[in-house]
Amino acid sequence: TGIPSVTLNNGVTMPQLGYGVFQIPDEGAATAVSTALREGYRSVDTAAVYANEKGTGAALAASDVPRDELFVTTKLWNGASTTWTRDLVLREFDASLERLGLEYVDLYLIHWPHPMRDEYLTIWRAFEEIARSGRARAIGVSNFQPAHLRRLVAETDTVPAVNQIELHPWLQQAELRSLHAELGIATEAWSPLGQGKLLDAPALARIADKHGRTPAQIVLRWHLQLGNVVIPKSATPSRIRENIDVLGFALDEEDLAALAALDNGTRLGPDPDTFD
Ligand code: NAD
Repeated sequence: TGIPSVTLNNGVTMPQLGYGVFQIPDEGAATAVSTALREGYRSVDTAAVYANEKGTGAALAASDVPRDELFVTTKLWNGASTTWTRDLVLREFDASLERLGLEYVDLYLIHWPHPMRDEYLTIWRAFEEIARSGRARAIGVSNFQPAHLRRLVAETDTVPAVNQIELHPWLQQAELRSLHAELGIATEAWSPLGQGKLLDAPALARIADKHGRTPAQIVLRWHLQLGNVVIPKSATPSRIRENIDVLGFALDEEDLAALAALDNGTRLGPDPDTFD
């Protein structure tokens, strides 16, 4: 499909652009994911807490794309009010696989660090076991801050393949991106379009005009040129198509500088240091 890929730190390759299904209800997920697969997406990002693993799995099963050409990510909802043990993590993972109707996922993520609970090391050691079993081709984290990453890397045997974080032109995450580069962790951007809220910035309109593209395409192209993995979400077929049509052009230095200037530290989601 021409979508570039990134090579993770364990050698597994991951498409640089995928389809995110947050807030798509289970009943609609099958249709939405089928549309995305038809438009050429090969990577799908879901999570236990999105409650649409079944619909997502139904679309994967109905598609004629071979399993080894798909890249499926799901996440452990470690926000549930429970005490996490190795057995419980394995049970939750099994339940996700079952809902997805898959024998393995390509990437399994710890959804949030929940630093106050201090459980992510226990959870990570169970993830390592899942990876060793071959039922997750890669394991990673989401919403981890620098201190959480450093601690995980110091105290366990596996460097996460990916950290999936809020990242868009308003929140460019320079510190995390450079730490990821240092540690060999791929940066995956959630809310890559800033949930659509930043798309009417005048600077984006100017760059979009210049290239004959839409502001959303400019933002996605910017992520790709920075090396980020992106998982834009839309339930609208025309936008699903628009968001993958970002390969036939390139932003120049001037465009990249104008985009860099949009960074204003605006977080649209929870702060991972305090989110519990
Ligand atoms: P996003 O930045 O992908 O924005 C999606 C919204 O932008 C859409 O609902 C729509 O309103 C608008 N939009 C999409 N395409 C458009 C286009 N071409 N033109 C104009 N507007 C457009 O935000 P998101 O859905 O929050 O994030 C994407 C994915 O990231 C999610 O589906 C999910 O998979 C993942 N995610 C992960 C976490 C996490 O904690 N790990 C948190 C949030 C989201």
